[in-house]
Amino acid sequence: MSSRDAERTDAGVERRSVLHGAALAAGGVLLGGAVDLAAAGEAFAGVRPRVYTRGDWNARKPKNWAVVRSSPPDRIVVHHTATANSSNRSKSHAFALSRSIQNFHMDTNGWSDTGQQLTISRGGHVMEGRNRSLKAIAADNHVVGAHTANHNKHTIGIENEGNYVSATPPRDLMRALTDTCAWLCLSYGLDPATAIVGHRDYNATACPGDRLYAMLPQLRSDVRARLRSLEARVVLREDSAVPEEHLPTYPDVPADERRAPFYHGPAVGPRDG
Ligand SMILES: [Zn+2]
Repeated sequence: MSSRDAERTDAGVERRSVLHGAALAAGGVLLGGAVDLAAAGEAFAGVRPRVYTRGDWNARKPKNWAVVRSSPPDRIVVHHTATANSSNRSKSHAFALSRSIQNFHMDTNGWSDTGQQLTISRGGHVMEGRNRSLKAIAADNHVVGAHTANHNKHTIGIENEGNYVSATPPRDLMRALTDTCAWLCLSYGLDPATAIVGHRDYNATACPGDRLYAMLPQLRSDVRARLRSLEARVVLREDSAVPEEHLPTYPDVPADERRAPFYHGPAVGPRDG
């Protein structure tokens, strides 16, 4: 099954390369998978944060390789990790966080690998999560994760270290989250106004916490400002093309949600299979 997925993915990449060529000839930069094109290169250089790879943080081998879809995601889901608000801002702490999340997801949840595609520490270090995520982003593809129940096929998840039910995220984390969202919006041609959402917009959970959730409007506006400042002409995908079942449903936040480290609401549902 995984080899079939890979074949389908390869075919999808070729088709889109042709489309990019056509868009550039018309004078614009069509976003998404255009990293190899000179016109988009400068734009990417201005926003792409340093993302540490799985090799950098010494990830375990996944039980199975991630499923890669040739259709890009249409929403970026912001989570918190529901772990301690550590004062350790070092890179080694960030790498240890990535390893502990992977261990929890594989050994306790029984998943094949880390659930989310990207992780950001309180020190502002950005790390790849699920295997194949960075390759997929560069190719305008989508790695199916395990972070937002029933919506994993069309959303990319960012886990932000800490618990933001009553604490405010550190500035370094928010700066890195802004950079990461700008890079993803540019890579996939997403409009930050609609693309950036919180986990609670889809599932009954407090994630990413009242404080971080309240900062999402500012995050959207900061990301938009970053995109506007780019020299390149940004062509966004039409959000009206997004199917209705992909749109947020804004369920009520549960009053008695389970509290445990690493748990931040439903991550896998029947419609993810
Ligand atoms: Zn969450």
